[in-house]
This record gives sequence, structure tokens and C-alpha cells, in this order.
Amino acid sequence: MTTPSTKNLRSIRLEAATACQLKCPACPTASGKTGERLGVGFLKFADFKRVVDANPQLSHIELSNWGEIFLNKDLPAILKYAYQKNVGLTAANGANLNTVSEEVLEALVKYRFRALTCSVDGASPQTYAIYRVKGDFNRVMGNIRTINKYKAQYHSPYPELNWQFVVFGHNEHEIPLAKKMAAELNMKLKLKLSWDDLYSETFSPVKDRELVRREIEFGVADRAEFSEKYGKVYMKRCCLDLWKAPQINHDGRILGCTVNYWDDYGNVFKDGLALCLNGERMRTAREMLMGRVEAQSGIPCNACTVYKHMRELNDWITPEETGRPYVKSRNLLFVENKLLGDKWTGRLVNAIGRMRDRVRVFHEVRGNRQGRPKRSSPITAGIYPLPELMTADQSAGWQGYPLFSGGSTNVSKLTCHTSVLDPGACPHPPHRHPEEELLVLLDGELDVILPELKGTGGKNRRLKVGGFLYYPADFPHTIRTVSDVPAKYVMFKWINTALKPAGRLEYDDWTIPEAAAVGSGEDGMAARKIFAGSTECLKKLHGHATCLAPGAGYDPHVDKHDVAIIMLEGEVETLNQRAARHNIIYYPAGTAHGMRNAGTGPARYLVFEFHARSGAEQYPVVAALARIMR
Ligand code: SF4
Repeated sequence: MTTPSTKNLRSIRLEAATACQLKCPACPTASGKTGERLGVGFLKFADFKRVVDANPQLSHIELSNWGEIFLNKDLPAILKYAYQKNVGLTAANGANLNTVSEEVLEALVKYRFRALTCSVDGASPQTYAIYRVKGDFNRVMGNIRTINKYKAQYHSPYPELNWQFVVFGHNEHEIPLAKKMAAELNMKLKLKLSWDDLYSETFSPVKDRELVRREIEFGVADRAEFSEKYGKVYMKRCCLDLWKAPQINHDGRILGCTVNYWDDYGNVFKDGLALCLNGERMRTAREMLMGRVEAQSGIPCNACTVYKHMRELNDWITPEETGRPYVKSRNLLFVENKLLGDKWTGRLVNAIGRMRDRVRVFHEVRGNRQGRPKRSSPITAGIYPLPELMTADQSAGWQGYPLFSGGSTNVSKLTCHTSVLDPGACPHPPHRHPEEELLVLLDGELDVILPELKGTGGKNRRLKVGGFLYYPADFPHTIRTVSDVPAKYVMFKWINTALKPAGRLEYDDWTIPEAAAVGSGEDGMAARKIFAGSTECLKKLHGHATCLAPGAGYDPHVDKHDVAIIMLEGEVETLNQRAARHNIIYYPAGTAHGMRNAGTGPARYLVFEFHARSGAEQYPVVAALARIMR
């Protein structure tokens, strides 16, 4: 059973109010559905205090979900006590901000409320009022300006302000105006797909679907299209609350997630957080969500549309997804709020991080001098053929086949795999990771989806056979096959730990030149550079295409950098073996290697070179110390 301990649980969601004064048409709070089950009520200060005092590990509490937090009369006391106890509060799910006194607006700033999401679905009073029935756009804007006034007065970045704009057919034309206004108000605009998949109420569906696809995260016009495009359930991330930040009603009933309002898992105010979170029913729910046990009656997820979609798409929570994100501890919030301020705390945290990096490099340099391998086992030089038969998993539409992995003096860890992706399939929604990647397309045609691509050309790029691309570290991306044959590709993915970024090569894609375009030199050998640059992990990443005439080649030599080769045409001899089309050749630094065209036609191949700065190059003082201590 997957049982997260509460010892390291720093974040919970504790509903401040289930009441709301607005009458939004598709909202279960406005229709009275949530009130029937959860009661229409407010979190009492005494209960809030009890939870904060009984759980010293908690350092973040989210207060908003079904109701309007500013209707809670105990909110000023809650804000003050959280500040005294170094607990960060947020209302990231949303507040309509229509009914709030100036004292409370000032208290948000004074007591360093961390983040406030304002639900404003329109950029004019007329449009806003269509969904936020009984709301007053101008009053909300006035309240946001008052918060900004106090932020300036207190010299505080808090609360961070977000503008949540649910995109409907009646307000989509105001997205550009909302962007402009959000920038003027120092807010982040967050466009959101409407929730017609959850409550079976289709209110004002989007009309200009292309516009919405262009503007919104993931490039889709509604949640159904998200599932179609990525084969994933849009709302699945809400289930992660059971692991990361469980939802608790204002009266203490633990609901688990922000979607469930029909059943609970016990009462935190009566039984305590640890007992409720580790209870049998909660543990069973987690197992169900991971697809490890069949649906069990009496578990709230059984009655949930999100769970139904997960079963239909076989899209379960994975162990990797359940990892808790970093949340500042109470001690750090104390230092930030009451001792050093944001700027100096930030500097202190960065300095500690850099110190940790240096210690790690120190050990790496020392380890290398003593001939010890780095943490990953070394990559073996060799020729790696692709599997003869590559088919995608039927339900996922995708299958990866690992080829090799390991470390070298240039990369802490590098993996190489080949994959097959069925027509229309997408391996995952856009994701980001600290590793850099190269993808070489061997067959089919792909749409490369890049939500944060800057510059012209849109957020999608088309990659055809004979093309390849580079993803920088931490750059959101995914792909989808657009050809009617499966796409096949090879990927290299690598990371260098501890080193400061060498540079920042941006995303790009290229076409590999044909043999005639590469040409043929006097010695029967020609190379054409395609790109080169510094990346976060490498002093230099370099790519070129080479063409060898029959019999041409070069004698064995040794490089300081790693070399990866993808054979595109013909046959070569290297490492005392033959390599043919689509074989991958890898020479880690220090491998003696030569090459000769062993066929009767031209041999053409794509080469990547991985050049790293060594720890000694980057931290000469540490390296010198390591030498002395050797
Ligand atoms: S499936 Fe369960 S955890 Fe997920 S959203 Fe529904 S009720 Fe919540």
C-alpha cells in the first residue's frame, strides 16, 4: 500500500468557506449541490489554530476551493496567527474578491499572504457579469488596486496576484485585453479551460477554437480535446492532492481532493491528520488511483467522473507523480518574514545551494583523481542496432526501447533509446525536466508541441524524416505523430550534475543534409557542420553530417569528448565491427576509434559531440585543494 507519512507533509488544503455570494451558472456551490453535502459554513479560528498547533511540520495551507474565503469573519485572526506561526497561506484555487474590507486587504499584505488567485472571467463589466452573476467587475479591479497600493507601501512582493480567466464562448474575444490589464496590474494571467467535463453542464462553449488553442496551455480548445490529443485525463492532477496536499472541509471532514464533495475519509479535527491520511479507506483510494486494485465500493473516487475517465483511458497515477514538491519550512519562512527579508533569504538559500554544489564537485574531482568512476556506471563504446520489430503499446500508442545508458567524463548520465509512436498518439502532455535532449526522426512525421517557444512560427513545429531537434533543459515539450505511419525516432538524454550552466543553446530543429549536399573531399571524406553551442550541461554540443566515399575513412584516434553517431546510409567498419543504416555508434571520451566505408556506395551519418567543462575547469580552487589532499 502507498502510505505517505505525515511527518514530511508540509502542505494541506483547509477550506475557509463553503459559502459564496455569487450565482455562477455552472458552479455546484451556486446550485447548492456542495452545500447539501458539505454544509454552508466557515472555518473557525479555533479549529485553524488547533490544526496549526498540532502539526508543526505544516508550513503551507491553501484556503480556497468551493466558497469565497473573504466571507469568513475569522479570516483576519487566521491571517495573523498563520503569520505568527510562520505558516504561508494561499488562495490559489480562486477568490471572487467582490466583498472584502480594506482592513483585510491590508492584512493580506501585512501578514504576507503568499498568493491570491482572482477569478475574473472577462475584461469588461458586461462580459464579466455573464458568468460571475451578481459580481461587480469594477469593485474587483478596485480591490486588486488596493492590494497593489499596500504592496508598494509595505515593500512586499506578497501576495503574488494571479488573474484566473476561465475561457468561454462569450469572453474569448477579451483575452488580449485581459493580458494587457493583467500586466498593468502586476498580475499573472492564467487562462483555464471550463469544467463542462465535470458537472455535465455545458455553459457557453468556446466558439473560436483556433484562438483558444493558440492562447491556452497544451494547445487545446476544451478538456475532451486534451484527452483526445494526449490520451490523458485533464483533471488527473487533482487526485495528487491525496499525496501532496489533502483537502479538508471547514468542519474538519477530510475530502482528499478538491473535486470530491460527496463523501469523506474521517474528521481531522476529531481524529487528527495522521490517522485520517493513513486510514484504510484513504489508502485504498490511493491504490485505486494508481490502478493497483479494482474499484472498491464506499470509496469516493468510485462516484467520480475523473476516476471514470482514468479507467477508460487506462491513465493511472504513477509513483513518480506522487513525489511532494519543495515547500519552504516554517523555519525558512521565519527567516524570510521576520529576519532577513525576501532578498537576503533568497541570497542565503542560493549560497547554501552553491556550497552544496561545490562540495559535490570536490568529491567528484577527488574521486576522478583516484580513478574512481562517477556515480553512473561508464557507457560502453559500441555499435547499438535498433530492435528489428518495433511496435507501440496498444493502449498508450507509444513504446520506448532502451539502447544504452551510463556516464562518462563529459556527462554524469546519458541514456539513449529508440521509440515508436502510433499515428495521432502523443507520449505525454508537455513536460519539462532538467535533462537536455536530442531527437532524431527516422520515420514518419511529427508535430513538436512547445508551449513556451519564443519568437515567430507558433508553438508547434513540424519535423519530417531526416530532421532532428534539440530540447534545452527545463523546456516544456511533447510530440504527436501526424503521419499515417508510426513515427520512429532515436533520443539522447543527458545531464551534468553540479556544474553551473555553461550557456543556453535555445530549442532548434534542423534537416540533415543529403549525401550530395555534404559533398566529397579529396580524401573521399566530407563533413558539414549543422550547429554548435554551449548548453546548460555542456561546454559545447556540436552536430555535423559526414559522408564517406567507398573505401574512405580515418585512422584510429582518441577524443576528449564523447561522440554519438547515427548511421543514415551505407555501411562502415569501426571498433572491429560493421555498422549499417540506423545503427547507433557511441565512443565515450578516450575510446580509440577509426572508421572506414566498407560498402560500395556512400556512407552517410550524423555525428553529435558532447564536450563538458570538467569540475576542475569550473572550480579550480576546489580542484587544487583536491590535488593537495590526494
Ligand atoms: S478520482 Fe478521486 S481523487 Fe481523483 S478527483 Fe475524483 S474523487 Fe478526487
